[in-house]
Amino acid sequence: MKFVFQLILLLSLSLFAQTNSEKIIIDSDLTFEESLEGISIPASIKNNLVLIDIQYYSFDEKLHQEQLLVHKSVVKDLNEIFEIIKEIKFPIHKAVPIVKYGWNDEASMLANNTGCFNYRKTKGTNLISYHAKGLAIDINPMLNPHIKNNKPIPIGAIYDKTKPGTLTELSPVVKEFKKRGWHWGGSWRSSKDYQHFEKRTN
Ligand SMILES: [Zn+2]
Repeated sequence: MKFVFQLILLLSLSLFAQTNSEKIIIDSDLTFEESLEGISIPASIKNNLVLIDIQYYSFDEKLHQEQLLVHKSVVKDLNEIFEIIKEIKFPIHKAVPIVKYGWNDEASMLANNTGCFNYRKTKGTNLISYHAKGLAIDINPMLNPHIKNNKPIPIGAIYDKTKPGTLTELSPVVKEFKKRGWHWGGSWRSSKDYQHFEKRTN
């Protein structure tokens, strides 16, 4: 009996040590001003933006901390969703503000980067994107491409539902976004933008 007790104590101690020794790898540590360098945007847009820290497990199975530049009205949603992403260990490749890619959406997508704010138009249109207000997020673009006319954007990306980090109708991540009123591009009829979620507000 005493032995069993000692064993349990030893096991819980080692578990405790393991949890505490988990290091967080910080990949993005910009200031708000740094995250907006190189572009000029209207004050009405800038005043609504907030830079938040998020944590998740990447494909190396290690805990990472990076940043998202988002509209202040979706901070609560994204904090809650990334808490769940971390808990269920849904892998995120990386999440660095788009400034690191010179505001080039394609470069960011090709790097499989998850991002929110980018002052740009909707791909292939003249409409201002929800990304331009920080009200949209693209997750793991190389695994969740935008399929238009049977072609993936970015070119070279493959949508394979069996791969970790891929979003499908049944993904808990998709359900969590929808629960909070976000629209998922994977549900669109005209084209499928699997990486994309947007929150339409007035
Ligand atoms: Zn998008």
